Amino acid sequence: MSESATFVTRHADLAAVLNQYRWEYYVLDAPTVPDADFDALMREIETIEGEHPELVSPSSPTQQVGPPADMTFTPVTHPSPMMSLDNAFSYVEVEAWHVRAASLVGESALNESGYICELKIDGLACDLVYIDGVLSRAATRGDGRVGEDVTANVRTIGAIPYKLRGAPAGMVEIRGEVFMPLAGFEALNEALIDEGKKEFANPRNAAAGSLRLKDPKVTATRPLSFLCHGLGVVEAHSGKHESGNSPIHSLSDAYAQMKSWGLPTSDHAVKVHSLAEVFAYIDRLSEERNTLSHEIDGAVVKVDDIALQERLGATVRAPRWAIAYKFPPVEVTTKLLDIRVGVGRTGRVTPYAVMTPVRVAGSTVEQATLHNASEVRRKGVLIGDTVILRKAGDVIPEVLGPVLADRTGDERAFVMPTHCPECGTELAPEKEGDADLRCPNRRSCPAQLKERLIHLSSRAGLDIEGLGAKAVDAIVEAGLVLDEGDIFGLTADKLVACPLFTKAEKTGPVLSKIGEKLLEQLEVAKTRPFDRFLVALSIRHIGKGVSPVIAAHYPSIQTLEAASQEELSAIEGVGPVLAEAIVEWFRVDWHRAIVDKWQAAGAMQVFASDAVDLPQTLAGLTVVVTGSVPGYTRDGANEAVVARGGKATGSVSKNTSVVVAGDGAGSKLDKAVSLGVPVLDSSRFEDFLEQGLALVES
Ligand code: NAD
Repeated sequence: MSESATFVTRHADLAAVLNQYRWEYYVLDAPTVPDADFDALMREIETIEGEHPELVSPSSPTQQVGPPADMTFTPVTHPSPMMSLDNAFSYVEVEAWHVRAASLVGESALNESGYICELKIDGLACDLVYIDGVLSRAATRGDGRVGEDVTANVRTIGAIPYKLRGAPAGMVEIRGEVFMPLAGFEALNEALIDEGKKEFANPRNAAAGSLRLKDPKVTATRPLSFLCHGLGVVEAHSGKHESGNSPIHSLSDAYAQMKSWGLPTSDHAVKVHSLAEVFAYIDRLSEERNTLSHEIDGAVVKVDDIALQERLGATVRAPRWAIAYKFPPVEVTTKLLDIRVGVGRTGRVTPYAVMTPVRVAGSTVEQATLHNASEVRRKGVLIGDTVILRKAGDVIPEVLGPVLADRTGDERAFVMPTHCPECGTELAPEKEGDADLRCPNRRSCPAQLKERLIHLSSRAGLDIEGLGAKAVDAIVEAGLVLDEGDIFGLTADKLVACPLFTKAEKTGPVLSKIGEKLLEQLEVAKTRPFDRFLVALSIRHIGKGVSPVIAAHYPSIQTLEAASQEELSAIEGVGPVLAEAIVEWFRVDWHRAIVDKWQAAGAMQVFASDAVDLPQTLAGLTVVVTGSVPGYTRDGANEAVVARGGKATGSVSKNTSVVVAGDGAGSKLDKAVSLGVPVLDSSRFEDFLEQGLALVES
């Protein structure tokens, strides 16, 4: 491969994986890698883009604040954009930020303005809009321009006043962090465990999950709190931007004003005048970190003077007048009691550490993945060792290595099994040279099948509530399904063989409520949109993020199967790795048999039947939907286009026939305008479905 192909490929791979991680973190509130690993990959892509600026595009993770808002909430455009923060991981990097800022406005101006040092609270940003002093709307950050409307949930947070004291008439936009104090987090987790539910991995996830619940009554029971960290638009009725009360020339003025309005501000914000004082603040904070009532992941340093902030401006992602200093990951020691192995959804057999439970960075840890046998060797850990455990103030703990001085001689080496601990099949690497071993019994290894069924029934998949871990265990262990192809073939007669789904009657066991519910839910699941079936099929790398893009191009499994690898890789957001995974998936006989069985059972066919009856008003048209469409989710709008014979795509080009643009439309709308592609307001979407191009041309 040529050198240019290497960095282009690496850039594309990094962008794909970072976008996936961001989706998991921001939308699903369920990150799968530690923040420190995410940050390291982000650094790598920034370095590549620094050396090859031609690779920078609006879709690069370096250019985005967060993924678009989840369409399950009403999208709202923020009065002013909500940005992220640039990160520094050492004092040298804080100094480099200072040098850059000084080169723009001069060092003396910076020192004269002073800096506000404050806590980097580990929660999620929230935008509060007060109109005439009354809380009228609250939204998450989303992609920075458009967030999710979480007003009903925010109204349940006690720390957020419903009415401000003495605020000016007009609009006041408050920025702050919703977070969960440690005591509340622990109590919530205990309660969840008692109820047999899954606990939250850390307070940040708990806060994000609780704020983005569908039912505000449940949010009201969650111990959420709030601290202000910025002031957005302040617009008195006259239309002029003004403070309303006392003049606001600095961030310190803004905090004082917010406090006088009755809003919660932090007692830890301190004004300093030199970089030396900034470092002294961070030193102090690292020592006091564990005494705080909530988690922080660092400190934020902000230029105080607002006129100077405006002169420094912002990049597309973050203001140049602020920097977040991130604490290094926390390390503790504990005992490695055992190394066991687990079998995942794709057959990967992963050794994991079982340790004496230990408190680290806000949660108790007793297990950590060790990835594969060569990682265990590389780390040099023996069963019985005292080990160093790292947690980057976040979710996934990592065993770093042994404390050699503590060895007694009683430790023993881990031996990787040669056969699957679940089904006894001999393990093998997928390709020569792979470090991971896999169980090749993909179809029927009970561990793999159970994981695939749990994935199939997850919210991102077919959302079958009654098919949780317990039900899956029972169904697989009773041999009711050979693979997921049999899932829609479950009947009352079959389920009666499983005690979990029955109740005792004089005549013998009959189906219980649980069993009846499962059958009802399976019926409903048959009608889920095609993109959700794509997730349910467990095709490697195809998750909730990319499946709507694929479904928009290929609205049925038959059209997808017919697609070539080249065609698939050309789709924006799909790329070569996913394209190969799709084509490979269809090559396996029992995979295609799943499709046949599902369709024979009446599942996965909404597209075909919808499309037949509807007038094909959009035949031959390529349509891009961007921003919100009243009454439709993004997937729903794309489906409606396809059902009328149109092609729904995700990117605008000169071949696009029409762009349907709604609230929150961004760069796609700009591109349509610059290319002269007709743009239709999304409020007329339904007329467009009825009338086709005639409406646009009229
Ligand atoms: P960030 O968390 O580094 O900084 C910006 C955010 O900090 C703001 O939006 C605000 O919510 C918060 N904040 C807290 N205290 C603040 C204060 N005093 N003033 C201003 N803002 C304050 O940036 P981000 O863009 O939200 O997230 C990026 C970070 O999130 C990454 O560096 C990474 O650590 C983590 N992340 C992890 C994963 C993963 O998969 N593990 C994925 C995506 C992001």
